[in-house]
Amino acid sequence: FSEPTLTRESVEAVIDLAKKFKKEKGRIPVFMEVCGSHTMALAKTGIKTRLKDYVHLIAGPGCPVCVTDQKSIDAMIQLSEESNTILCTFGDMMRVPGSKFTLMKAKTDGKDIRVVYSPLDSVKIAEENPDKEVIFLGIGFETTIPILALAVREATRKELKNYSIWMTTKLVEPVLRVLLSSGDVKLDGFLLPGQVSIVIGKQSYRYLAEEFDISGVITGFEPVQLLSGIYKLLHLQLEKKVKIINDYTYVVRDEGNAAAQCLMEEYLEADDEAWRGMGTIPKSGLVLKEQYAQYDAKKKFNILVGEPRVTKCRCGEIVRGLITPEECVLFNKGCTPTHPIGPCMVSTEGTCAAHYQFMREV
Ligand code: SF4
Repeated sequence: FSEPTLTRESVEAVIDLAKKFKKEKGRIPVFMEVCGSHTMALAKTGIKTRLKDYVHLIAGPGCPVCVTDQKSIDAMIQLSEESNTILCTFGDMMRVPGSKFTLMKAKTDGKDIRVVYSPLDSVKIAEENPDKEVIFLGIGFETTIPILALAVREATRKELKNYSIWMTTKLVEPVLRVLLSSGDVKLDGFLLPGQVSIVIGKQSYRYLAEEFDISGVITGFEPVQLLSGIYKLLHLQLEKKVKIINDYTYVVRDEGNAAAQCLMEEYLEADDEAWRGMGTIPKSGLVLKEQYAQYDAKKKFNILVGEPRVTKCRCGEIVRGLITPEECVLFNKGCTPTHPIGPCMVSTEGTCAAHYQFMREV
């Protein structure tokens, strides 16, 4: 899927169809890639740059680090100040600025904050430190959420009393509904996330076609896969058809992953969730059910945080596809990967990081 000749031919095929689209409609097509990994792959492979005069590819809200509300980081920093806590989180979250500073700064100030690769690692840390409260910052979309449920199952099985998760998870459907209903961005189709779709399946996107009259193609991350997804979106447009296509059939099934879905249903339920730059979206996250409240850090600890500090960072608009990173006055000036002001520059899936590394004019 990254063979150079096939990639070149795929690029030419996409450009041919995009030219037909422009001839017919008098404008270039606009597609949104929902997933942060797609944003990074499209930038890294040069596809975004190569297609920029033919297809407008907008980054969407699918980077979990980027959409995590700043209040959660402020709350974690507060929790880290308690003497008997160990905080665990994914690496990217360490460098996201909170209102005062980052978790990384808190760690260098001596707080016990540990980077883990899986929530299950944090369960092990709780088991090894029975005299400490271990709290995991549970961010992520449907790809990660089943593993959070698995962590709670493990903690229950081990009868841990010192383990909890600060749940701040996100669901794809509610945020896409908000984006489409707002009418802020006019789209001709979606490149749908490969990994999330493994869990939720193709059928979970039917509302896009049926209610919003918009197509989507589930696609992988290699150049030919990405180009195939764009090609199919263009083809649907020219054929005047609206469909959801699974172009990642090697791993995505119509019905998704039943085991992961069961795990989520057993431990979690939908609740309102705060998104960076978008406010609170009803039923857009999953939280622990009441019977697992002892593992819910928000209930276990009485943490109150004030309103986040206002900065010039425009990540809130970036994740909604309203602006490009270059439109932020801080891009490549005050804000760079070594000195990030916002999460979109911190995250390995962030749009600002993607533009800085692979699309910046030097
Ligand atoms: Fe925020 Fe930096 Fe991106 Fe601007 S360039 S939107 S400050 S992350």
